[in-house]
Amino acid sequence: MQILTTITELNEYLAEQKLALKTIGFVPTMGALHKGHLSLVANAKKEEDLVICSIFVNPTQFNDPKDYEKYPRNFNTDIQLLQKHKVDALFLPNEGEIYPKGEVLKSYDLGNLETVLEGKHRKGHFQGVAQVVHILLDLVKPDKLYLGQKDFQQVLIIKKLVSLINSPTKVVVCKTVREKNGLAMSSRNARILPEHKAIAPALSHVMLRAQDQVGKVSIAKLKKQAIAYLSYFKPIKIDYIDVVNIDTLMPLTSWKDSDKYLICGAIFLGEIRLIDNEILLSPKVLKLNF
Ligand code: AMP
Repeated sequence: MQILTTITELNEYLAEQKLALKTIGFVPTMGALHKGHLSLVANAKKEEDLVICSIFVNPTQFNDPKDYEKYPRNFNTDIQLLQKHKVDALFLPNEGEIYPKGEVLKSYDLGNLETVLEGKHRKGHFQGVAQVVHILLDLVKPDKLYLGQKDFQQVLIIKKLVSLINSPTKVVVCKTVREKNGLAMSSRNARILPEHKAIAPALSHVMLRAQDQVGKVSIAKLKKQAIAYLSYFKPIKIDYIDVVNIDTLMPLTSWKDSDKYLICGAIFLGEIRLIDNEILLSPKVLKLNF
C-alpha cells in the first residue's frame, strides 16, 4: 500500500493510475478503523480497479472541541489493517495540507437537510463535512465514493454536495455493520465505559425491532414505546428518536405517507453520543392491511 501524506504525492500517484485507465473507489474516513470501514473497502474492491482510503480527523466538522481532542487516533494500527485488506493507497494528510489557509469555513446551500436531526444537535457539523468531502473529491476525483448507511444524514448531505458541485462521482451506500449484540460499529464505541457496555446496544434494538411495528401501531405509539424502553436504562439519556421521510428527513405522522421511511435516533451514554438508523418498509410494500 502506498502511503501518501502530501497533495503532491497524491497527484503523482493519481496521474500514474489515471494514465493506466484505472477506476478508483474512494473511502474517506477519520480513522480508528473497524469492520464498518472495512466493509466499505471490501465493496470498493469488488467494483473498482483501485481502492484509495483517506484518514483525516477533520476539525471543521466537530462542533465540540473536546470531542475533537478525544477522537481516537490509532494511525499505526489503521495502516496495518488497510495493508491487510489490500487497499492500494492511503491518503494521510496533516491539517495544513487540507486547510493551507487555516480552517476557514465555506458555506454550502444544504437546505433543511442540515438543520434537522443531527444538524439540530450539532450546529455547523454538516457544513464541515461538506467542506472536507468537497476538498477530497476535488483531489482524488474518484469514480465512486463509498459511504456507510450508519451516517444516513451524512449520505444525503454528500449526495446534495455532489449535485451542487456537479461532481461526476457516484455515491455508493453500504449497509451498517453491527456487533453481534446489534450495536452499530463506531470509532466512538472504544470510549464506552465498561459499566455502560451491556446497555449500549439498546438503541440498535429499537432500530432493528421497529419494522415489526410498522402498520400495526401508530408512529406516535412506536416512538412512545421506544422512549419508554430506552428510559428503563437509567444511564441512557435520549437525544432524539424519530421516524422521518427517507429523502427529506422531515418527521412523519402516518405510515401512509410513502413506501419507505427512516427510523433514527441518538442517545448519550455518559459523554459518548451514539447514533443509529434503519430503513423501514411501508405496509404497502409489505402488502399488509392497514
Ligand atoms: P468515520 O471514520 O466515522 O468518518 O466513517 C467513515 C465512513 O465509514 C463513513 O462513510 C461512515 O458512514 C462509515 N461507517 C462508520 N461506521 C460504519 C458501520 N458501522 N457500518 C458501515 N459503515 C460505517
